[in-house]
Amino acid sequence: METHLQDRDRVGVQDAVLLEDYQSEEVFIDNLHKRFKEHLIYTYIGQVLISVNPYKQLDIYGPKDVKAYHNKHFFEVPPHVFSITDTAFRSLKNENREQCILISGESGSGKTEASKKVLQYIAEVTDRRGDVEKVKDKLLQSNPVLEAFGNAKTNRNDNSSRFGKYMDIQFNYEGNPSGGNILNYLLEKSRIISQVPGERNFHVFYQLLLGAEDQELARLNLKRDLDSYYYLSNGSKGNGIDDKKGYEAVRNALTIIEFNKQEQDEMFQITAAILHLGNVGFSEEEGIAQIVKPELIETISELLGCNAEDLKNALTNRTIETIRDVVTTPLSRELAIYARDALAKAVYDRLFSWLVYRLNSSLKIKDMRSYNVMGILDIYGFEIFDKNSFEQLCINFCNEKLQQLFIELTLKSEQEEYLKEGIEWQNIEYFDNKVICDLIEEKHKGLIAFMDEECLRPGDSTDMTMLTKLDKNLSYHNHFVSHKKADVKLQKIMGRDEFRLIHYAGAVTYNVKGFLEKNNDLLFRDLRETMSKSSNNIIQSVFLKEEQKSKKRPETAITQFKNSLNNLMHILMDKEPSYIRCIKPNDEKKSGVFDEQLVGHQVTYLGLMENLRVRRAGFAYRREYSLFLERYKSLSSQTWPHYHGSAKEGVQILVCALGYEGDEYKMGKTKIFIKYPKTLFYTEDAFQA
Ligand code: ATP
Ligand code: MG
Repeated sequence: METHLQDRDRVGVQDAVLLEDYQSEEVFIDNLHKRFKEHLIYTYIGQVLISVNPYKQLDIYGPKDVKAYHNKHFFEVPPHVFSITDTAFRSLKNENREQCILISGESGSGKTEASKKVLQYIAEVTDRRGDVEKVKDKLLQSNPVLEAFGNAKTNRNDNSSRFGKYMDIQFNYEGNPSGGNILNYLLEKSRIISQVPGERNFHVFYQLLLGAEDQELARLNLKRDLDSYYYLSNGSKGNGIDDKKGYEAVRNALTIIEFNKQEQDEMFQITAAILHLGNVGFSEEEGIAQIVKPELIETISELLGCNAEDLKNALTNRTIETIRDVVTTPLSRELAIYARDALAKAVYDRLFSWLVYRLNSSLKIKDMRSYNVMGILDIYGFEIFDKNSFEQLCINFCNEKLQQLFIELTLKSEQEEYLKEGIEWQNIEYFDNKVICDLIEEKHKGLIAFMDEECLRPGDSTDMTMLTKLDKNLSYHNHFVSHKKADVKLQKIMGRDEFRLIHYAGAVTYNVKGFLEKNNDLLFRDLRETMSKSSNNIIQSVFLKEEQKSKKRPETAITQFKNSLNNLMHILMDKEPSYIRCIKPNDEKKSGVFDEQLVGHQVTYLGLMENLRVRRAGFAYRREYSLFLERYKSLSSQTWPHYHGSAKEGVQILVCALGYEGDEYKMGKTKIFIKYPKTLFYTEDAFQA
């Protein structure tokens, strides 16, 4: 045990709270780097696990590793994602506390891989009988399906998740998996219609075209040629991604999850219809859009199960209801293209939601009662790009909320421990980002409220009128910077179409171009109606539901997101959290390369130094008396070789023998708390000598 105290010059310390100079980012990063060189990708800050992506397969996730971590206290074994999982799992089983494992980090840092390891570990340490095995299979197989439809190759990650995911693993009384439930957040649907150079559309399109049998392609009227499809044509090709294998994996998974033939057929019909839709071109006659190849619409209508005439009309006309009457006007070519793309995005987005809904119904196992849950959150980390738009605003808002939760839960658990141990609470100074959350989401006077007000205002609202409104109403706030008051000396100059937010992780400048459109997320009514009459069960079910709901004006995209985030916060709030913070060591997806500057940025965005400071503000180290005594009893002749008193008294004897000063430690009810690492190292060195 206490493996982390040995050999610290070479491999660093395995818990950053043991760094003497805990305020120095340089020291902190150097410690990660040392460990990374030794293939030690995991390091703790107290109970928080830091994971640095090795970009190569390490032999640390096999059966022998599962065994090595099973039922071990986290300080008895080196840091590992299995250890975090085991600790959470034991708390769930033995103390009946619901758990959540929160994984964050930027794109390519290893979040999704970590979440799979958590699931793998749970699957391996629980029963393998009948229904339990079936649940586990379904849970594991949900990944290839979600990844086919929700992941894509980006310049940062060949298998980048383009949606946020929260998954509950449900457990029965015996502590075996009994079901699951998935919540999805904000699919990046703009990827459907275009991709930046070097990136691809969602995996499923390539998998279908390259993996499906000839017969299936014929059924869907598709050619085995990526270049024939406009929505794929500006993206990159596969290089290195085995889409054929991916297709087999998806089909296999769908069968295990018990999607029947009709459901699978309809899913791929929709997928194919989107590819065809991208190829629908328009010409313009006297300002009115004409469909270039009407026969394409026949194909699409057949695949989507809707009426071809209706679809043609809906793609080239728009009906608006005014107070007095209903007016239908033909669309220009530009607007028709807009309508077509909006339809493709909307259909795909709904398909994805349906998929999650359908997975969930399959993960509800009849006759299996659930008793406890362990949630796993795999969600986008803080983003600062050269150009930041609506999506970054949503993502960074999400990270503010998670940071808020982190602060609340960490401080709360520190405080609870002190109280439980009868140790006086020492006030910890920290930055509370609630002010930023409020700035964004406060009712009637937050950024979202003003944004929505302008987006929903009928008439001539634009991105710029929205910005003017934000500037006018929010400039008083310390964390909002209008381009009019940007301090040129301190920060880079802002454009007239930008605003800046000072997030907990740093300043981000947002460009408002496209905000209004993305937030309104409008699908013309004619298209909505056509879809809701579809005979494709999937299409019909999702659009009909909306049609019924949307008698009122639908909520804006950001308000929907805000509501689902607040719902998530509720779910997470009463669970015991474990944290995994993932770091990407370089931008080249290379093994063995550790770019200290790049890591430095992530350390900032993840708030790790602040995390360490809060953790160290109290005590660097704490351990149950019995465990402390067990290790160090040889250091006093009064406790060695035989000792029969209470553990607490034994530790008191040791502490006196070692000459600890009064300010170096505190004796709690069941634990000793040590303030400085040097005290512990001194003790450990005495023990090793
Ligand atoms: P995104 O936000 O884009 O979804 P992510 O944080 O989920 O990114 P992953 O997809 O988990 O990132 O990881 C990216 C790649 O890094 C993986 O495909 C894998 O090649 C490699 N990788 C991540 N973690 C590990 C690991 N523990 N061991 C080996 N390789 C890893
Ligand atoms: Mg991912």
